[in-house]
Amino acid sequence: MNRSLRSEAAASYQSMNHQWLKFHYRILQLSVIVSVLAEIAVYIIARLGHFISGSDLHYWLTYILIPGLIGLILIHIGRTVVLHKKLSVRQKEYCMSFLFVLITFNLSFVHSSYVTILFVSIVPLLMTVIYEQKRLTSVTAVFGILLQIISALGIMLHGDTFTSLYLINLVIIILCTCASWAVAIAMIQFARMKKQIIINQDVERKILRQRIHLDELTGVGSRQAMLQHLEMLANEQEQDFFIAMIDIDEFKHINDCYGHLYGDRVLHCFGECMCGLGKTCYPYRFGGDEFCVLFMESHAESVRQLLQRLQKDFSRMMCKINDNSSITFSAGFAKRESDQSMMEIIHFADVALYESKKRSRSAITLYEGRAESF
Ligand code: GH3
Ligand code: MG
Repeated sequence: MNRSLRSEAAASYQSMNHQWLKFHYRILQLSVIVSVLAEIAVYIIARLGHFISGSDLHYWLTYILIPGLIGLILIHIGRTVVLHKKLSVRQKEYCMSFLFVLITFNLSFVHSSYVTILFVSIVPLLMTVIYEQKRLTSVTAVFGILLQIISALGIMLHGDTFTSLYLINLVIIILCTCASWAVAIAMIQFARMKKQIIINQDVERKILRQRIHLDELTGVGSRQAMLQHLEMLANEQEQDFFIAMIDIDEFKHINDCYGHLYGDRVLHCFGECMCGLGKTCYPYRFGGDEFCVLFMESHAESVRQLLQRLQKDFSRMMCKINDNSSITFSAGFAKRESDQSMMEIIHFADVALYESKKRSRSAITLYEGRAESF
């Protein structure tokens, strides 16, 4: 139980990763669009200021059209990855992180004369932190640094040469990327520890709630759970149902003759029989040897038949465990009427139960204004 609750809590965290993956893709799209628009804005300013030395066509091809086209191709790949059904979430996280590094490379490569542009490759590294996988963050960081170096080599394409100042700046940027990588790993470590604490608390809370709602000896719902169920039903005016109060006959005598451990076993068996009643029945332990069953049925006859079946099942089970089929129970049940409170219905079922006890052992009585025995 503990393990399934733990994996349930972990799965809800996993769904957060999936949402982040979609956000990751949106940022990827946005960064391509913003960078193309920024390039166009820079072109307009450069044109107005007569800063462009070559032809307009060359400028458009180098800084806007080719990088824009590559960006669109990367966006398309990103979209295919997000929608791909056969890829696991983990594989998608890797693909998306690499695509983001490629997009920053696409931007920095053409502008590598301005060494500070290489800082942009820190962004894809930071985007991986939410996935909380050290390996993914490390691989993205290494890939980013490699492409930073390749981008730096791109200055040769622009006819520039490496100056010592450029080289120093490049080393500083790579060191800053390494520092961001180390910080990202530390953040992942702390986020994981925090997540573990939250999952543990969540699991403990769920176990506690389950314990409160379950009667350990009989396996049926606790009195607390019954009150909650009744509270819920009180708000559903349309729902027809019956409440049955059940009490094991001469249970004190069973305890006295066979011992309390045997008595416990009888209660356990009775709980098992009640759990097998069916989907429309909700059994709860009221206290001691007294139980309450909510029957989501519309007709008294169906409830009576279910209670009679329970009597047979119980007697059969007692026969099996100790050849003791003489242990019986009595029951009283009442229908919910729209103007009645839940406590009133329980009281009427109780009146019917005491009517059963008065008549004969193992009797079943319906409360109809006054209790009426079957
Ligand atoms: P009646 O037919 O009138 O119901 O008689 P009874 O002897 O069953 O009387 P009553 O229902 O009052 O007895 C309940 C007994 O159930 C008293 C108590 O000792 C015993 N009991 C309550 N809880 C437990 C339990 O968890 N285990 C065991 N073994 N006995 C319990
Ligand atoms: Mg009893």
